[in-house]
Amino acid sequence: MATEKHIEVWRKCLSIIKDNIDESPYNTWFVPIKPISLADQRLDLGVPSEFFKEYIEEHYLGLMTRVLEREIGPQVQLYYHVTTLQDTTVTYPQKTYRDLSNPTIPAPVNPNEIDSQIAPGLRRMEVDANLNPNYNFENFIEGECNRLGRSAGLQITVKPGNNAFNPLFLFGGPGLGKTHLAQAIGIGIKEQHPEKVVLYVSANKFQTQYMDAVQKKNKLTDFLHFYQSIDVLILDDVQEFAEKPGTQNAFFHIFNYLHLSGKQLILTSDRPPVELQGLEDRLLSRFKWGLTAELKKPDYQTRLAILKAKCMREGIALPEDVLHFMASAITTNVRELEGSLISLMANATLMHQPITVELARSLMGALVATPTQEDLSMETINKEVCRYFGLTSDLFMSSSRKREISQARQIAMYLGRQYTEYSLTEIGASLGGKTHATVLHSCKTVRDLMDTDSTFRTYVHDIEKSLQLNTNK
Ligand code: ADP
Ligand code: MG
Repeated sequence: MATEKHIEVWRKCLSIIKDNIDESPYNTWFVPIKPISLADQRLDLGVPSEFFKEYIEEHYLGLMTRVLEREIGPQVQLYYHVTTLQDTTVTYPQKTYRDLSNPTIPAPVNPNEIDSQIAPGLRRMEVDANLNPNYNFENFIEGECNRLGRSAGLQITVKPGNNAFNPLFLFGGPGLGKTHLAQAIGIGIKEQHPEKVVLYVSANKFQTQYMDAVQKKNKLTDFLHFYQSIDVLILDDVQEFAEKPGTQNAFFHIFNYLHLSGKQLILTSDRPPVELQGLEDRLLSRFKWGLTAELKKPDYQTRLAILKAKCMREGIALPEDVLHFMASAITTNVRELEGSLISLMANATLMHQPITVELARSLMGALVATPTQEDLSMETINKEVCRYFGLTSDLFMSSSRKREISQARQIAMYLGRQYTEYSLTEIGASLGGKTHATVLHSCKTVRDLMDTDSTFRTYVHDIEKSLQLNTNK
């Protein structure tokens, strides 16, 4: 029958492809493809997702072209159709994966059944939510700085997925409570909806799992299906996805699937969506679908409340004046505030001294620790430069020649040369293996730019200041 021609031809193509690649990638990437039509030399194929299409294009285009030219003709044209996400749930069942002798579209299947078909037992499997029980709402002190995110978070715990805050995008500087709040939402959901599968994962871990899955090709479907089975996905530090298109692609796919299925997504980032350079627009636009809430620096009253709450939990009583002193002295972020409190208690205990404002004051220099020039390491310099320019360390260490990145590296080399005893080679090595000639050249470039460009000079001075360097050297 003429209508069957595309099926027949595609079956032939598959048999050749099968002979040319391993079984597992064949099963993963080719079996799910559905021939749609063949007219003249135009073949239309249905693929389950955009991600599939890109993967095939990237890895098997050469093979596909050779096979199609042979079976269809030298003018062959290939068109992909990405079945919509709604359809994706339908086309995922094992049947289309394994049984091409009957390549008709199977009847719609309930997604829960699909999961158990593809990864038997997944539904029943206990997914470790990866939540720290201390990061709960009770321990998360409310303040003007976090009111929006906190109250949205509380509402999410009541009705995960089905609310106006999906996804919830939390952003703010380091140590301001993003991880704590995101986890508190997870804990709250688990308490109120124990049957929900909650998963907290850092963007870095997601990336590692993804890379791992790609390397063992047949694992990629497992990876995708695992994430598609989650009810509440908390992804921490999404800025780490910058310049990682493969990971972004996989996440995009998972995001769409979960969002469409009414599952809750919670994302955190150290900067607002608009400033997430290196992330694809299609992903960014999705982050804005729900609610974006900033976690700001806590004001004095909130800092005081946080200190008091922490003392209560630790079962210690600090004099009021010490608490007031600390709350006014440490304004940067909550992590430093907590760190200082712990150091203060440790010192008082070790030295058998009462905790007084004098002790706190005398410790404060060490508490708000800043490296002296003697122990200034390249690591500290590099970190500070990254922080200042908002670069991830991956990007910073990469071989990217983008001006802002290479300038940041040059500044780090200059500061290393200026303020440490490291050799040129050691400085170069700390920056991903630059040669000593590169370091020398960079120092000269920085000096020249500082002479001629006042903005650039401000950058260098700012970083020197935040490293508390003695610039009279
Ligand atoms: P981030 O992820 O934004 O870098 P974290 O969530 O890791 O910050 O918070 C740093 C520390 O500060 C954690 O120990 C956390 O418990 C504490 N913290 C942050 N915000 C608050 C808050 N509002 N109340 C109590 N503790 C907080
Ligand atoms: Mg964090």
